[in-house]
Amino acid sequence: MRQQVLAANWKMYKTLEEGRAFAQEFLPLLADNAAEVIICPPLTLLGELRQQFTGSRVKLGVQNIYWENEGAYTGEISAAQAADSGATYCLTGHSERRQHFGETAATVALKAAAALKAGLVPIVCVGETLPERESGQTLALLHDDVIASLSGIAPQANLIIAYEPVWAIGTGKVATPQDAEEAIAHLRASVAEIWGEMAQKLRILYGGSVKPDNIAALLNCENIDGALVGGASLNAQSFAAIVNAAK
Ligand code: PEP
Repeated sequence: MRQQVLAANWKMYKTLEEGRAFAQEFLPLLADNAAEVIICPPLTLLGELRQQFTGSRVKLGVQNIYWENEGAYTGEISAAQAADSGATYCLTGHSERRQHFGETAATVALKAAAALKAGLVPIVCVGETLPERESGQTLALLHDDVIASLSGIAPQANLIIAYEPVWAIGTGKVATPQDAEEAIAHLRASVAEIWGEMAQKLRILYGGSVKPDNIAALLNCENIDGALVGGASLNAQSFAAIVNAAK
């Protein structure tokens, strides 16, 4: 039985005041279920949210790290710095980072390894574009990308994978539960090729236009262990409704 995970990716949204208001509205709305709840805000909000969520079940993550421990890397932060600021999770390889900042499976693997070394749980994102899906490449691409993104990482349950089809992110076009389940079952089988039995313990999330009205059908699928949520996580009511749909 894998614990479900509902993770919010706030991207480059929210001021301090907006983050504080979210926390105060969100906490009382949370029902008592067993799901892991994660918010990945912009770095500027980490300190404030750390205070707001102290003593609650809400954990924090960062949206990116650099893989070196320290050094002359202007604009970057290390995994240890993220942990020091209150993060316990770290997104790696989100499609927006792959698209706008040149991330590749090789850099994702370096970041995931650095995250683990600093005690952060990496949330490794993979997903196909629309042309890749339409040309029938989805499953082959997911297989190769997940294996390359985990290169050099020892088998462990302390890592999360997010299947995020690029065509579903921020578009309002959610994958059908059947398509998401097929892709995620395939990702699990792909990880099993390199990690063996550990793949059964790995949490694999779906992400892409998840909303309160489509989360239940996704969570009902055998291999889908939760969701990574962008737009609908910016509103306390809608993210709480998504979290409350979990077991
Ligand atoms: C995301 O940013 O990871 C995401 C899935 O966004 P949205 O839910 O808005 O599609």
